[in-house]
Amino acid sequence: MIDSNVAVISGGVGAARLLRGFHRQVEQLTAIVNVGDDMVLHGLCISPDIDTIIYTLADAVSTERGWGLEGETWQAMGMLGRYGGQDWFSLGDKDLGTHLFRTQRLHEGATLTAITGELSAAWDLDLDILPVSDDPIHTMVTIQGPDTGTEISFQDYFVARQHSVPVTGIRFDGVGTAIETSNVVAALEQADRIVIAPSNPLVSIDPVLAVGGIRQRLAIRRDDVIGVSPIIGGEALKGPAARLMTEFGMECSAVGVASHYSDICGTMVIDTVDSALAPEIEALGMRCIVTDTIMSEPGVLESLCQTLLA
Ligand code: GDP
Ligand code: CA
Repeated sequence: MIDSNVAVISGGVGAARLLRGFHRQVEQLTAIVNVGDDMVLHGLCISPDIDTIIYTLADAVSTERGWGLEGETWQAMGMLGRYGGQDWFSLGDKDLGTHLFRTQRLHEGATLTAITGELSAAWDLDLDILPVSDDPIHTMVTIQGPDTGTEISFQDYFVARQHSVPVTGIRFDGVGTAIETSNVVAALEQADRIVIAPSNPLVSIDPVLAVGGIRQRLAIRRDDVIGVSPIIGGEALKGPAARLMTEFGMECSAVGVASHYSDICGTMVIDTVDSALAPEIEALGMRCIVTDTIMSEPGVLESLCQTLLA
């Protein structure tokens, strides 16, 4: 066990993979998680990024899909389909239990923070998974195309339309009045090292940074903040990060990611294939570490986590 206190600013899959390398290896681990993807569907409160982290760290995640549970069945979805209900967002039968529990507890007045703690404890996890805020935030996306100028929910964009339509705007509904929880404040103050996970900068990390004083709190800790680029060789391993960066006029590279974080992040970790970009990142006033970052490759997760703690 390494005597270190690490806080990780987290989205879903990219963050969950990284957190796995720290889990049960560092003394105190906290994930500060995006809630902009949260939604209510069939009356159920669903927190996709939180659940991806819980299922991944519990070794219960579907390795094939990267989200949801291994060995899942889909009988409830079949029934929904029969009735002509909304079945575009797949909810497995076991996964539904998580959403039923969360929804009931929210209706009883429990906070999302408390409920997430209960879920995490039920899976015997040894970290604090903290929603950045207990106030609802909904990432909204303005799309181009047949419905030009239409604003839709993030899940409609990401899942129903499989992030295949051009995006002209991103808005975090509710963020103006949302505040970070006291647990999040304490975690950011007490961490020796704050890691920005290799998550989507625009729709996973930005909705965390946009809450209350998070951005300023990170800026104060800039020397201790270290980011990992989700963009490798100009592409995302998965999802719309690269496409969105291009659509929003950012350079679609590790340099684009670094420049997006340069006010809050003192050190950027980029992949070996991008080693030629290091001088450009240093020119932004950041340290740059070049190493292997594809966490599915043997040994990479362990060495990446060591690098992040060094
Ligand atoms: P989501 O919320 O589930 O969509 O996932 P995130 O926002 O947390 O992560 C998506 C990003 O993770 C994508 O841009 C990927 O490129 C990145 N990613 C996933 N796996 C890896 C990895 O092994 N290494 C790096 N560097 N990035 C990764
Ligand atoms: Ca997400």
